[in-house]
Amino acid sequence: MTARSNRTLRRVLERAATSLARRGLTEARLDVEVLLGFVLGVSRASLVARDDEPIDAQSRAVFADLLRRRARRVPVAYLVGSKEFFGRAFRVDARVLVPRPETETLVEQALSWSRGRDGPLDVLDVGTGSGCIGITLVLEQPRLRCVAIDASDGAVDCARANASALGAGERFEAHAVALEAWSAAQSFDLIVSNPPYVEPGDRCDPETSHEPDLALRGASGPFPAIYDALLTCARNGLRPGGALMVEIGAGQAEVVTRRFEQSELFARVECAIDLAGIPRVVIGHAASAGHTEPTSTSFSRGACGRTLRGRRGFRPAGR
Ligand code: GLN
Repeated sequence: MTARSNRTLRRVLERAATSLARRGLTEARLDVEVLLGFVLGVSRASLVARDDEPIDAQSRAVFADLLRRRARRVPVAYLVGSKEFFGRAFRVDARVLVPRPETETLVEQALSWSRGRDGPLDVLDVGTGSGCIGITLVLEQPRLRCVAIDASDGAVDCARANASALGAGERFEAHAVALEAWSAAQSFDLIVSNPPYVEPGDRCDPETSHEPDLALRGASGPFPAIYDALLTCARNGLRPGGALMVEIGAGQAEVVTRRFEQSELFARVECAIDLAGIPRVVIGHAASAGHTEPTSTSFSRGACGRTLRGRRGFRPAGR
């Protein structure tokens, strides 16, 4: 084999994928295609289409550096500086949690809730991170305005940059403040949050060691303290007929649902299941003005009975 053929995109990809796979990365081929496409500024599809072309020395050096970092389990999203969420590219870096596909379940629930309501809607996004939840809601639902808060200055800068890059304009505003220190000047129709819910002893992907601890484990104390803080926030700031929607970790549905019921804030509590069949979003529906009924609880129809069995290839990531 000549030195030249050794440097074709195909050979470089093959060698890189083998080396990452040997280190236990399960999506090695996908990772190297995304990283090399990023280095060369081309899509994965055109990378594969022209894989008999040579790669220049400078690109090879940049790619080698990314591979070394990927081998240390730096998330691909941090290496390329963006992550797709609900069909849009969000800029991400180590200041924010990488948006997860399961969080799209929360967004879908919030959007479907918003479609059942008339007029302008005020939403509070607690712990916004990259802004992926609040910004997506604003872009998908023109009647909606979002106030987003996060305890991290870096996260708020990131969320603001995403809001302006994606055109969320004046309907998304972000403030650097912790939930516990925040007092709302207004009330909200909907409060959404993907709070830090990783518990001590949880097994997480190695990639999470590069993500902000504040976004994964938080500062509110042991689970379920953060959900109690969110319930207090709802008590102070949720309008009659409004809803509180929170993402939860695998295995937390029972505890969080019970907390919601015990709060006596809601006429109805629901739990929605994500694409992997895991109860992922707890929703409390506040009674409309003038209504007082006992709380009823349900799991989203049709979804609750689904199990992981039969969903081949599914591998839950982290919590
Ligand atoms: N599910 C995330 C994980 O994979 C945790 C997200 C969170 O704590 N909000 O670790």
